[in-house]
Amino acid sequence: MEKTVTLDDIVNLCLRRGFFYPSGKIYGGFRGFYDYGPLGAEMRRDLINDWWNYFVETRGDIYGIYGAVITHPKTWEASGHVESFIDYIVRCTRCGEEYRADHLLEDAGIKVVDLTPEELSRLIRENNIRCPKCGGELGDPQPFNLMFSTHVGPKHTKSSIAYLRPETAQLIFTNFKNVVFTMGATLPFGIAQYGKAFRNEISPRNFLFRLREFEQMEIEYFVNPKKMDECPYFSSIEDFELYILTAEEQEEGVDEARPARVGELVETGVIGNKWHAYWIAESLKWLERLGLRKEHLRVREHVKTELAHYAAQTFDVEYLFPFMGWKEIEGISNRTDYDLRRHMEYSGEELHIVDDGEKVVPYVIEPSFGVERILMALLTEGYTKHKKRITLKISPRVAPYKLAVFPLVNKEGIDVKAREIYHALKNRYRAYYDDRGSIGKRYAKADEIGVPICLTVDGQTLQDGTVTLRLRDTREQVRVGVDEAERRIEELLSSWPWRRGY
Ligand code: AMP
Repeated sequence: MEKTVTLDDIVNLCLRRGFFYPSGKIYGGFRGFYDYGPLGAEMRRDLINDWWNYFVETRGDIYGIYGAVITHPKTWEASGHVESFIDYIVRCTRCGEEYRADHLLEDAGIKVVDLTPEELSRLIRENNIRCPKCGGELGDPQPFNLMFSTHVGPKHTKSSIAYLRPETAQLIFTNFKNVVFTMGATLPFGIAQYGKAFRNEISPRNFLFRLREFEQMEIEYFVNPKKMDECPYFSSIEDFELYILTAEEQEEGVDEARPARVGELVETGVIGNKWHAYWIAESLKWLERLGLRKEHLRVREHVKTELAHYAAQTFDVEYLFPFMGWKEIEGISNRTDYDLRRHMEYSGEELHIVDDGEKVVPYVIEPSFGVERILMALLTEGYTKHKKRITLKISPRVAPYKLAVFPLVNKEGIDVKAREIYHALKNRYRAYYDDRGSIGKRYAKADEIGVPICLTVDGQTLQDGTVTLRLRDTREQVRVGVDEAERRIEELLSSWPWRRGY
């Protein structure tokens, strides 16, 4: 029997095998910050490359940029972050410990969605919530801005303050004109960027889920506001099926998503326009391609109270974590022309584009993915435990190693042949060579770190030139000639997920 995966399972695997390390551990750790270990670093690189490949490289209508982390302070005044990028904090009147007000309520089983400080305060009193640490009385919720600030230059004055970007999106808006002019972009088109974002979260928690430093992969896709329903790719996703939970359904108390076709969601007005629907479907197609199962993904519309100040409509893509329920891994917003107009107002620059002979300020659909949250979903989805044996059934697209090469035994020239094969294949696939311990232990380690295929060299190899390919997910073993090994590996990697008798 397979056991349900817990958060501890994921954390233990990641720490033990070098996917992630708590940052600054030798100094006692640093809450909200994690370092990528060797396996995590490879996985991250593959994930970002796969995203870039799917959304930038192979499309032609999306340009990639790579912006600065410390950004002109005016950017965040224009975007509204200086004024309204806040969470509410409550302080214990006895021990001084600080908590995020809505998290305290959630921990007490009370559902909260973007409440005002007055409402938060009322709920804390009514439910007699006290300091979890010392039982003391809690003060009133106070606003807390989540942006990290720093000083630029040697002088520390008010005017030297700058912010570390809390999202990558704004750099896209501030570079809109540059991309239009230098690339000759015409509507509709998108700008994509991945990179670090920083938020001084009051209570970082759940491992990689709520960090203070994390990475985003964002696209702003610009469309003429009059043409939000003129999406030339719509027919390619019209019949795509997904699970949806609308704002209206949530307001009626429904909390289970229902299956629907994208076309139907546009016809019935659930998704405001075809471009928004298209980007929801494309995002899900990519997430499913990475191995997240359709039934573990749902699209939840933001209810009115949680809708950000810039958004006309927002949907979150949520993943079903067995240990913490449905949680957002991506947000897809219709930000209208809010950001471009605000930057025009604050900078005095014209941020128009000409379309059909008319100057327009485009609307924007924003798919915003979190790298660490997707990695956590992929690790959770792939984690299986049978008796004491862990297998990480993750897609070869993101597996830290694609291949491991083993000599069955370290003698009789078997090891020499195995090394020769390893050297021939390692330029093509990220692979490792392992000759330590029993073959069973080596397979077990490979399964645990998600190596999709192990290639084993044995006595027979020296006689007839064949090797064994062992598949992680099914434990099947196939014998193939050394000469055809590369082609078979390629075939197998690109035909994942495998069923028995692949
Ligand atoms: P948001 O701008 O809050 O909608 O965030 C966009 C995406 O960034 C989310 O869907 C998450 O995947 C990711 N994200 C936001 N905040 C955090 C955080 N504190 N830690 C890790 N990922 C985050």
